[in-house]
Amino acid sequence: MARLDPRSRLEYVCESERESEGKTIFYLKPLSIAEYLKCESVGRVQAVKVGTFTLRALQYGLIGWDNFADEEGGVIPFDLKNISYLHPNIQIELAEEIVRIAELEGEIVEELKLVARWGEWLDKNENRKHQWECEFCLEKKLFKNRNCDGTLPNKCSKCSKETLEDECPICGVKTIPQFKFRFSSTITDWVARCPVAMLTPRAIQLTNIVNFTDNAKALPFHCGAFEQTYFFYLIRMVVLSEQNAILKKELDQKPDFNHIQKESKRHGQSK
Ligand SMILES: [Zn+2]
Ligand SMILES: [Zn+2]
Repeated sequence: MARLDPRSRLEYVCESERESEGKTIFYLKPLSIAEYLKCESVGRVQAVKVGTFTLRALQYGLIGWDNFADEEGGVIPFDLKNISYLHPNIQIELAEEIVRIAELEGEIVEELKLVARWGEWLDKNENRKHQWECEFCLEKKLFKNRNCDGTLPNKCSKCSKETLEDECPICGVKTIPQFKFRFSSTITDWVARCPVAMLTPRAIQLTNIVNFTDNAKALPFHCGAFEQTYFFYLIRMVVLSEQNAILKKELDQKPDFNHIQKESKRHGQSK
């Protein structure tokens, strides 16, 4: 995933130019932790005019452009000094894209948490180890019962009508999922669809990278912790804090559980 590597060069075309010919291509790079924090330190105010935050984000994240010309068609070479030739709206759009590259969307956070919970559940039993793909569900003919494809309707608790709605169209009462998978005894800790089917390859991959680098006490790229991208930093935080939270919950539930297999490791990355 390019966003993990501070040396990546990502192409970007502004929204208003996507359909047009002779579009300008901007080259952006993921921000390192230090760069991101420097941008943050000036505050991210949603100002109409170009603010310090925008300029700083461009200064760190904009590393080139192609095919950029002024109104008379004169080519403007890439140089941070020439940023003022960019329309303020373009500057803001580019800065927002640079920040978007650095940050995690809520979707990916949920995906990572699910991988941590599922991995933990599998760890508890040797026989479950291979259940990282729905092949298992197909093989064991559990595909329908486990709601692997997410098409299994809910059932009305009153009239037993099957519907995909949360409320029964006849009785108006809440409907109940026919499949529930519980990760733990916590009341809210369940999903209504096969967890394996909800795992995404990217979340599994990212979790593996975090676990690998953490066990090896190394970072994925050969440079100091602050040279890591902010994107990787956030992923690492989500994965480790979710794993620690699960572990802590386990320990709280089992006071005699005295062989701690995992411990939180923090090296070199402070806020
Ligand atoms: Zn499945
Ligand atoms: Zn009903």
